[in-house]
Amino acid sequence: MRLRNRTLLAFLLSCAALIPHTTHADSAPPGGGPEGPFTGFGTPFPKKGEAIVRFKQAAFRKANANLKQRFGNRTPSKNALWRELATLIGMRISQPVSGSSFVVKGTSINSSRLRSGVLKGFVSRVEPNYKVNAFAEPSDFFYRLGLLWGLNNTGANGSSKNVDVDAIEAWGMSQGSSDLVVAVIDTGVSLNHPDLVDNIWRNPQEIPNNNLDDDKNGFIDDFFGYDFVNNAPSPNDQMFHGTHCAGIIAAKNNNNRGIAGVAPNVKIMPLRVLNARGEGDVAGVMKAIRYAIDARKRGVNLRVINASLGGGDRVAGFEELLREANQVGIVFVAAAGNESNDNDTKPTYPANFESPNVISVAAIDKFGQLASFSNFGERSVDVAAPGVGIWSTFLFGFYLPFDGTSMAAPFVSGVAALMLSERPNLTPAQVISIIKSSSKRISGLEGAMVSPGIVSAERALRSL
Ligand code: CA
Repeated sequence: MRLRNRTLLAFLLSCAALIPHTTHADSAPPGGGPEGPFTGFGTPFPKKGEAIVRFKQAAFRKANANLKQRFGNRTPSKNALWRELATLIGMRISQPVSGSSFVVKGTSINSSRLRSGVLKGFVSRVEPNYKVNAFAEPSDFFYRLGLLWGLNNTGANGSSKNVDVDAIEAWGMSQGSSDLVVAVIDTGVSLNHPDLVDNIWRNPQEIPNNNLDDDKNGFIDDFFGYDFVNNAPSPNDQMFHGTHCAGIIAAKNNNNRGIAGVAPNVKIMPLRVLNARGEGDVAGVMKAIRYAIDARKRGVNLRVINASLGGGDRVAGFEELLREANQVGIVFVAAAGNESNDNDTKPTYPANFESPNVISVAAIDKFGQLASFSNFGERSVDVAAPGVGIWSTFLFGFYLPFDGTSMAAPFVSGVAALMLSERPNLTPAQVISIIKSSSKRISGLEGAMVSPGIVSAERALRSL
């Protein structure tokens, strides 16, 4: 009884946080491009007191020189260096995001203050650290019948038979490779959910809970992934959203419980960037992508990132990171967003980034109609997937249905994972091209996306 109440409470809290997704209403207009010697923006910071800056080498030299003056030849800690970098531009705190990009914080941060840092020659780029949100909505609880229609639509309850991703047919060809890893950049994943526990990635070079960075990747005890919200090892879900997405991708099948994912043999790497209210920021997402790229470079067969989130405007440092992910063969699947917007004219990020490994996914219902909340875009949204009344894994070993482009993107991540299990040499652009060309056309979606149809696992695998 107590557990049930807690679940209900968690659920109600999460609903309240998610309903109004106001990506664009809250964000500043595009900043007007390059300005003087740096790329910056003239409007207030969307996330109060924070920005993502790229330090020049001169800043590192100056910071190191200052520390040497103070501490002599004693090697200063990384934290001391980061603090010193922040101090150079009048900020209090800085934390590395990727390469020489840091997120900086200060009580009185504003663009003119940072501009003075730029003018001192320490910073080559300043960009806002936008807020990002999960793209899910609570589903209509009275509309549950025809439960797993996204995998296999039987036409029950008046729905449209075959408006589904053809998972049953695909599983005859592939259920995914057990060493293929999909990173879920989200609220974390419920690590002990019985339908997920066997499919959570484990870092083979890390010993859990020994308080050491065994594999020397800069993260202590990152055995199951990482929690970038708390800078802590365990990416356990405190909302439900990442758990729900993970189940759509890779819940275990044939275990006589719950549901099955599209790619039921692949592994999930949970990278937690959204808190218990489904909120985070661009810097956190960038840190997680950096982690995924580095894992790939270190030999983890990580080929897909699922990003059922978004918010803010174009951040050049983010797009650069996506291009680096493309270079190492990682497909980036992004939810198109839930504002009923045309992404051609009102872009949603990261879905609208133009890196060749980005695929943007709209949500449809079991009748094959674009979900009322789903963003669309004849040029900017690629394809559709099931996103209304989607049952998947929840906290405490439970299952619940949700709506959102957040739920649609993981279907595509699952299909990409099946394809890359069978044909590891495919580039991200090839994977995306096949997913689009093999989708099942739905006439009502014409004009709403590049490939107006529902993604099909079966047809994608047959096209390899
Ligand atoms: Ca480590």
